[in-house]
Amino acid sequence: MAKIVIGADHAGFELKEKIKIFLQEKGFEVEDKGTFSHDRVDYPDFARLVSEDVSGGKADLGILVCGTGIGMSIVSNKFPKVRAALVYNEYTARMAKAHTNANILVFSGRVISPEYAKILLSTFFETSFEGNRHQERIEKINDIEKEILESFASYFRELQRFDPEVFNAIVNEFEKQENMINLIASENLTSLKVLLTLFNPMNNKYAEGYPGKRYYGGCEFVDAVEELARERVKKLFSAEYANVQPHSGTQANQAVYLACLEPADKILSMDLASGGHLSHGARVNFSGKLYKPVFYTVDNKNHLIDMDMVRDIAKKERPKIIVAGASSYPRVIDFKAFSDIAKEVGAFFLADIAHPAGLVAAGVYPSPVPYADFVTFTTHKTLRGPRGAVVLSRTEFSKKIDSAVFPGSQGGPFMHVIAAKAVCFKEAMQPEFKNYAEQVVRNARVLAEEFAKRGYKVITGGTDSHIVLIDVSPKGVSGGDVERELYRAGIVLNKNVIPFDPRPPMNPSGIRIGTPSVTTRGMKEEEMRIIASLIDDVISSRFSEEVVLRVRNSVAELCRKFPFYSDFIQKFVS
Ligand code: PLP
Repeated sequence: MAKIVIGADHAGFELKEKIKIFLQEKGFEVEDKGTFSHDRVDYPDFARLVSEDVSGGKADLGILVCGTGIGMSIVSNKFPKVRAALVYNEYTARMAKAHTNANILVFSGRVISPEYAKILLSTFFETSFEGNRHQERIEKINDIEKEILESFASYFRELQRFDPEVFNAIVNEFEKQENMINLIASENLTSLKVLLTLFNPMNNKYAEGYPGKRYYGGCEFVDAVEELARERVKKLFSAEYANVQPHSGTQANQAVYLACLEPADKILSMDLASGGHLSHGARVNFSGKLYKPVFYTVDNKNHLIDMDMVRDIAKKERPKIIVAGASSYPRVIDFKAFSDIAKEVGAFFLADIAHPAGLVAAGVYPSPVPYADFVTFTTHKTLRGPRGAVVLSRTEFSKKIDSAVFPGSQGGPFMHVIAAKAVCFKEAMQPEFKNYAEQVVRNARVLAEEFAKRGYKVITGGTDSHIVLIDVSPKGVSGGDVERELYRAGIVLNKNVIPFDPRPPMNPSGIRIGTPSVTTRGMKEEEMRIIASLIDDVISSRFSEEVVLRVRNSVAELCRKFPFYSDFIQKFVS
């Protein structure tokens, strides 16, 4: 049965209620967008809710009611693909279907009685669209719509003409992100609001310094967005101080080290093989070259962080800073225990929550803010914002961190990115973001269960976050093989070392699976079961060509069911 979405203002409220009951009795699925009382409201708000759903293909038919029906008609016909018809007698109800194939019907709540509305609706449902010359006329309406949209798309066309190589790479990337299942734990799909904020002239602005204290003139508008970003992120994480300028997670960590270490001071952190990050003291990174790293590992049996081991090493090595946080550790980290050890040995404590920042913001993963001296995170992983990072701290460290970021380790901040960070923080404050974060963890847990059921070794036996780390060696394959072959089947994930991996890092035993991107697309537990089974099909078949092709088709079908950028791509890019 078709889905009908219905809405009204205060003048249409009563008729809308009657129509709703009539439609439900006829067996339609009806979604009521309000209004829900006689209180005065603005008709464009309800016309928008209904028209957006019809325009976006989420409903088959819309019904709108206001006093005259005129205001609702005007608003709804501004939405692409909407053909809204104001029907007021049986002839117009019939023609609305036969000639214009209307997808929204508008009624006058002050003129049409409930009984007459039912007759008009029945007339509309019993009539068929005649097609032929009427279809050609609808095509002409579609052409007008396209021309209007083209005026925005023409900016993209200019780039396409000037630099087709770059333009085509962008289109390909858009389409790949839309048509493949992305399980890379450090990636996500930003909203169009965030993506389009990056397309702004603050890119052109030099703003060395901080709001109110810049080395350049003309900074009043960039000051405003940086203030917004700082205030929002402080509120989101209940922090005293924030610096939103770091270009990346690595540079956020660099600023913290610069603020509180001298060259050759000791950093105690998790080793790379257990899931730590390059910027925590790896030999090949500045942090391992300038400072002296000492590492803790995870327990060699349960693969969890062993706080006794951390304490023993801390007492023996007396580091200047202890770092907690990782790139492939699926479990909750006991930030309080880390803080206690840091206090015991007189070290600073840095919590790097690059990965779970979005989950922390939503309250579904413990926050280190009450315990850590410094908290760093990237804004582009679970937090779903632009590429970049943030340092949080207590007010006592604000001056040190500010000068460690600028002029200590960076020049002019990327103000267009900071504007997009501000939008991302606002998105993360919305109730929907909490739903997303909860679903991210639920989805990861389902994947962990599904893989365990199929005989894979799930590291730590499960997950508390968006990450599932899986040892694929019991299936006689390597992480590198799986990454490569799944990519051919339309699934992107990355090979990963597992703790105490006997294999080399370039072709390790594990894969890391993350749920942020698929959850952002709207996928839930049922889709996770499908994805686990598709991945297992490819691996169990030993990468048979036939299975890879079949899975590729299933992936394409799944992606079509959960579109994300496709509307934007169709309208503006392709
Ligand atoms: N810290 C951790 C724990 C990470 O996992 C990452 C990135 O994956 C970073 C820091 C660094 O982020 P970026 O790549 O932005 O430098």
